[in-house]
Amino acid sequence: YKEQLAKKQKELSELLKPFCKVNPIVGMKNPYHYRNKVHAVFGHRKDGTVISGTYQQGTHFIVPVDECLIEDKRADAIICDIRGLLKSFKIKTYNEDTGYGLFRHVLVRTGYHSGQVMVVLVLGSPILPSKNNFVKALRKLHPEITTIILNVNDQKTSMVLGEKETVLYGKGYIEDELCGHTFRISSKSFYQVNPVQTEKLYQTALDFADLQGDERVWDLYCGIGTISLFLAKAVPNGQVTGVEIVPEAIENAKKNAALNGISNTSFYCGAAEDVVTDMVAKHRTPSKEDTNGALADVVVVDPPRKGCDAKLLDTIVTMNPEKIVYVSCDPATLARDVKVLGEKGYEVKKVRACDMFPQGGHVETVVGLQRKDM
Ligand code: SAH
Repeated sequence: YKEQLAKKQKELSELLKPFCKVNPIVGMKNPYHYRNKVHAVFGHRKDGTVISGTYQQGTHFIVPVDECLIEDKRADAIICDIRGLLKSFKIKTYNEDTGYGLFRHVLVRTGYHSGQVMVVLVLGSPILPSKNNFVKALRKLHPEITTIILNVNDQKTSMVLGEKETVLYGKGYIEDELCGHTFRISSKSFYQVNPVQTEKLYQTALDFADLQGDERVWDLYCGIGTISLFLAKAVPNGQVTGVEIVPEAIENAKKNAALNGISNTSFYCGAAEDVVTDMVAKHRTPSKEDTNGALADVVVVDPPRKGCDAKLLDTIVTMNPEKIVYVSCDPATLARDVKVLGEKGYEVKKVRACDMFPQGGHVETVVGLQRKDM
């Protein structure tokens, strides 16, 4: 594990060399079984035996998985037992080539602190035979399950979840705690997969933001509002605005603010490059000399791997914040975006990676940028 960390540190340092020295990566104490979200694709062998596991890289061949060293053990046990239930209930797995069959995927989400467990059964059509008995049998085997959702994905797609969902048991969401707040998480909302390291990641972002208490902060790509609420606590006399594209996640974010008694946040649904750009266009454009004319004091971004949209980077610069905190899950797009921001007047002050994906190749990085005084 030490060598893995050294390798990630070296890769990141080389990529970001033109911008800033990279602080030592934050490693994980026990780098196993950390994944709180486990996905298994279901299929069968030629002889009809049900298998479940993961796609072989770059293909749709299923590699059978019973247990994986990075996955939550409770999730793996549930998935194995669902395989057994399919056999006893004579439920056929879905065939991606022909479109025949029913059972496609299982997604299990576990709450690290709450212990709550969500099971999402993804089917090719809405009817699960002997539905009630199936749910009963599964709950009997795993009383730790707190909610079961039936998701229908009838498209020939590599996306796991479909649009339509019905709740078969429980509330339809789980809750978990992070950084002292409670979060409601739906099946379709993004939630960091490594809850232990997430707290360290968010703390790093908060440290880099270095808030005084009255700032106007934006949290772009905010998901269910995890970083937003954390920031909101740090600016009791300020305001946090979150923007996120998935409607279910924004619903979660609003609910999460209320659940935690936080009133200085507001959330908007849509593509950040559109929503924020529209909002900024409606205000006057601040001049560089007039920092009081800034529309934001601090902007936090946490985009998916493809990084920030070029239009969004322009808009952020127009907002003229003193600081930008960039949380990234892909160093290559991070380096690309930081270069653009550098050309537009922002200097990288601090960099630190946090190992969110032990035993895997991905690197999660937090960068603190500061507006250069003109
Ligand atoms: N900060 C959150 C989520 C980060 S993941 C957390 O730590 O939990 C990135 C998020 O960006 C996802 O929730 C995804 O749905 C959202 N997203 C993807 N493209 C987007 C876009 N163009 N505008 C706004 N949000 C987007």
